[in-house]
Amino acid sequence: MDWSINRGSHVCSLCEKIFPEEEIYLSALYDENNEFLRRDFCLECWDKEGTEKSFSYWKTKISKKPEKVERYAKIDVFYDLFNKLENEKDLSRVNFRYVLSLYLIRKKVLKLISSHKTNESEYMVLHNVKEGTDTEVLKPQLNKEEVLAVTDEIGKLVNCTPQISPDNGSIAGK
Ligand SMILES: [Zn+2]
Repeated sequence: MDWSINRGSHVCSLCEKIFPEEEIYLSALYDENNEFLRRDFCLECWDKEGTEKSFSYWKTKISKKPEKVERYAKIDVFYDLFNKLENEKDLSRVNFRYVLSLYLIRKKVLKLISSHKTNESEYMVLHNVKEGTDTEVLKPQLNKEEVLAVTDEIGKLVNCTPQISPDNGSIAGK
């Protein structure tokens, strides 16, 4: 699976308006044939396009300084993605969810309770502090470099790289 990245365009994908300084716009991920495609919208076009077709979306504000993008709480973006990826079987999405869980553990939104192995797979049992529920995350066989590569992929897609410690997923680190 490839990532289609439309990054830093700062242009509405519908009306092609260029976002001025301090413009608030919406970014959305669309799941198209098992590929995530990102599109940015001005507020007007977002109202027309609707949200129901998007996999996940979030608000961003163009800062006054060029090349810098102000961010609304990205923790919510990552949390939303983490939840929506729950039943995904595609390997790259499993990797994606795992890396998001590392970030959310670091942010104390999730708490590592235990881990267990079934035949070939290893799972982390995480307590969702927000919801008061437990959830399992499949722990893929990734080395540190691969974890960082996945983190980078998420960063490109969301336009904000989650800060993680690749070791957070080990029970010793709790
Ligand atoms: Zn527009």
